[in-house]
Parts: sequence; structure tokens; C-alpha cells
Amino acid sequence: MINSRKIEDLHPIVAAKCRDFLARCKGFGIDVLVTSTYRDKESQAALYAQGRTTSGARVTNAKAGESWHNWRVAFDVVPLRSGKPVWGTSGTDGELWEQMGRIGEACGLEWAGRWHSFRELAHFQFTGGLTLADFRAGRTLGGVAVQ
Ligand SMILES: [Zn+2]
Repeated sequence: MINSRKIEDLHPIVAAKCRDFLARCKGFGIDVLVTSTYRDKESQAALYAQGRTTSGARVTNAKAGESWHNWRVAFDVVPLRSGKPVWGTSGTDGELWEQMGRIGEACGLEWAGRWHSFRELAHFQFTGGLTLADFRAGRTLGGVAVQ
């Protein structure tokens, strides 16, 4: 099972955007930790089982192949304050997430903090207009296949 937090495990186009995003955040004085990049389908299936057929809280609604992480085009982050992850989402914590989200959008990333269903402040992705069905059918960003 692979559940990576390495930027180089992302599709090269998305990896470049992720690095740009991290550099711009740093420019604004925001340190960001990447907590998840690529997950293989086995790892996604185990995550989906959590809180359903195995113990723990439900953490995802995506089955294997249904998460953008499975296609190397999404990553999750958390902002740091004095080196510690900021998990709060209200007050100044919420403002920090919002600022980080705007920086990501300026890098051409889609920020799941804007989503109305399954809003997820930690999640950024770049799909190049492709759908999950496109990825499943073998289409890839920029014609570059990464397996
Ligand atoms: Zn995510």
C-alpha cells in the first residue's frame, strides 16, 4: 500500500504547481506541511473501509479510483504556526486557511475549501479539466502518463 506525502510522487505538472504554491506561501510567511500526495488504490480502499467495515472515524467518501489522489493530481496540506499544525478552522486559524487557499488558487490550483459538498480545507488539486472517468479511461494531464 502506498500513501505518499512526497511531492515527486505527484504528476509532474501538479508537482510543479505544488512547489510553486509552497514557495509562494513561504513568501507570505506561511509554512505549509504536505500531509498526503499519491495514494494507490489499495490504500484508498483501506481508507474507505475506515469507519465502515473497520474501526475509526470515516475520513473519505471516495472508493478506490474515485479519489483524485489515486491519479496523482491532488495533495493535502496543513499550515503551520510556530512549527505546529493548525487544525482549527475558525477565527485567525480560519483566516490562515483562507489565505493559503487563495494562494493555491493564484497558482492555478483548485481548492476544496470552496466546495459546497465535501468541503475540505486541506485539499488542493489540478485536473486540467479531466474527469475521474477520463483518468480511468487512460487519459492524462499534458499527455504524460505516470503510473
Ligand atoms: Zn485530499
